[in-house]
Amino acid sequence: IKKIGVLTSGGDAPGMNAAIRAVVRAGFYYKLEVYGIYRGYEGMINNDIRKLENKSIAHVLERGGTFLKSARSEEFKTIEGRQKAYDNLKSHGIDALVVIGGDGSLTGAHLFYKEFGIPAVGLPGTIDNDLFGTDLTIGFDTACNTAIEAIDKIRDTATSHDRLFFVEVMGRDAGFIAINAGIGSAAAAILIPEKKFPVEKLIDRLKFREKAKKESNVVIVAEGGKSGGAQEISEKVKKILPTYDIKVTILGHLQRGGAPSSFDRILASKLGVSAVEGLLHGKYDVMVGIINNKIVFTPIKRAIVDDKQVDDEDLRIAGILST
Ligand code: ADP
Repeated sequence: IKKIGVLTSGGDAPGMNAAIRAVVRAGFYYKLEVYGIYRGYEGMINNDIRKLENKSIAHVLERGGTFLKSARSEEFKTIEGRQKAYDNLKSHGIDALVVIGGDGSLTGAHLFYKEFGIPAVGLPGTIDNDLFGTDLTIGFDTACNTAIEAIDKIRDTATSHDRLFFVEVMGRDAGFIAINAGIGSAAAAILIPEKKFPVEKLIDRLKFREKAKKESNVVIVAEGGKSGGAQEISEKVKKILPTYDIKVTILGHLQRGGAPSSFDRILASKLGVSAVEGLLHGKYDVMVGIINNKIVFTPIKRAIVDDKQVDDEDLRIAGILST
């Protein structure tokens, strides 16, 4: 391997820049040429590929977003699109890839390796934390910090007006952000897609808290919940508790932005270096993650198919803290 390409794909996450930087630095350390592929697989198909230099990665570690930009590419899901992408990589002499993204992006890398034999190592870059094969994904910690900071502010106004707030956080069909944000912000309840939380139980909890003279109530709702998002749940509760002053806040994309936390910078840096070393040691078609503080390579096929479970213990603790 002499020339590697690096790209960020799918939903962006804070810490992606730190990961790119680590890949480039490690590449140079091992005397490789490193090419930046812009806008994910779209750039691979449109030949938006440029050689990266030291100056390309100056002052990017601490910045949110991804300077390589990210995109979703429908064309890459077709064999014709992937053929174009392969031809472009070959025209630059790129012989291996580091793909930073979520399960969709890693699925693409796995398919591309199977069809065209381009070795790829994936880095888990998503705020959702929904990838198997790593305790935490790049961007998750920052997103939790951002959510908690926002919820703190909502609590101030909730307390001042004795209001009940439903705050919707991101996470697609996973409840990891909701659980952490809920524990970290003293939520009255946490509603996640993975576990049933009937409205009756929520009503009981709220009444109990009323008796206990709790000053404010913030309920955290994960966006992908089976009984709907924050808006739907709030409407159900309003019907049963019409005297409650209920408000809804959807945090949305602000959870994707901002400077990466120290944790995400360090995680992304370690994983970026390990990805390059993995490629050099013949570890292909794998995702690199950290489990129990150790670098672990997991076949991409497993990382995308196996479900990462939310920790029941976390939910139990959240329950104790809110009742
Ligand atoms: P994420 O990586 O955050 O999960 P997506 O699911 O949108 O985001 O995937 C990002 C990109 O990865 C897609 O736009 C597409 O180009 C590529 N991709 C996703 N799934 C596949 C697939 N089954 N085959 C080929 N490419 C895919």
